[in-house]
Amino acid sequence: MYTLSLFLSLLVITVPVSAGWLKENADIMGTRITVELFHPDPAVARQGVDRVLAEMRRIDHAMSPYLATSELAQLNIRARQHAFAVSDELFTLIQRAQDFSDLTGGAFDITFASVGFLYDYRKAIRPDAARRKKAAALIDYHNLVMDKDRHTVAFSTPGVRIDLGGIAKGYAVDRCIRLLQDMGIRQALVTAGGDSRIIGDRWGRPWTIGIRDPREADKMVAVIPLMDVAVSTSGDYQRYFEEDGVRYHHIIDPQSGDSARELRSVTIIAPDATTSDALSTSVFVLGTRAGLALVNRLPGIDAILVDRHGELHYSDELQPAEAAGERHAAATRTSAH
Ligand code: ADP
Ligand code: MG
Repeated sequence: MYTLSLFLSLLVITVPVSAGWLKENADIMGTRITVELFHPDPAVARQGVDRVLAEMRRIDHAMSPYLATSELAQLNIRARQHAFAVSDELFTLIQRAQDFSDLTGGAFDITFASVGFLYDYRKAIRPDAARRKKAAALIDYHNLVMDKDRHTVAFSTPGVRIDLGGIAKGYAVDRCIRLLQDMGIRQALVTAGGDSRIIGDRWGRPWTIGIRDPREADKMVAVIPLMDVAVSTSGDYQRYFEEDGVRYHHIIDPQSGDSARELRSVTIIAPDATTSDALSTSVFVLGTRAGLALVNRLPGIDAILVDRHGELHYSDELQPAEAAGERHAAATRTSAH
């Protein structure tokens, strides 16, 4: 389905921007945003970039767990006491998150935040085992009581919290791509941290997305040519600290409330970025066997996994016939790190 070529490269390969193409980076949502797009009218291209950045800021203001004024932060406070009415947008995104919880047998669960808030990866703070287990008992997406008619959300148990960090960036990327399409833009890349979506080609050639080595920031384990898809990578190297040789990072196994440790990175290719974002987090929790089994039964979804030994694993449709040798080479290269 896709041809895989394995070589070292930049994360998103950049070539000099030529006429009609515009590229811009910004730091929003606590991450790096990149927009690259083409329109023959430079004014429209400029407007496209500006609209994308404005949309990212709007979604950040609504869904950031760090802004006390965000709708999400308000929900976390108010839904403890009573059903809290939220915007159609937030309600719908929470519903989509719940659908991913059903699909993944609870590996994806936005109530992970009931434990997640006890970690501070920058300050190397984590709960002790007793506190973690007590809080982990609150992780269950069924603890969200959703009223479809009134668009309210309530927590069935005190102590429950939600966080959309596993899906909101992908959702934001999808919203931005829609805005660009509505403006008549047919070739674009929008990236928010590890979540990207591309439409069309790039100067008549596919876009190239690199998957970085989870243990060496400037190395790639694979580079994939792609068109008209979304790609998300979840890794244990983005937000973490180590203690006694154990890595504590931001992807939480809802069963234990502890970091999931079977994999180092998961890349998902999907038709839209909301799906690729939620599934990259989910497959990271599920691990190699259960994760690949899930991906292989979902049409239109592919995955590349790097396990804790540095070995690469591909979903069925990604197995490039001619690349068995290359895959071996890549596995050897990563395992060397
Ligand atoms: P990033 O935010 O670095 O792009 P991911 O897409 O992998 O990374 O999502 C990780 C984020 O997802 C965490 O920072 C946290 O907000 C959230 N999260 C962690 N564990 C879970 C989980 N089991 N289910 C849903 N969301 C989760
Ligand atoms: Mg994700």
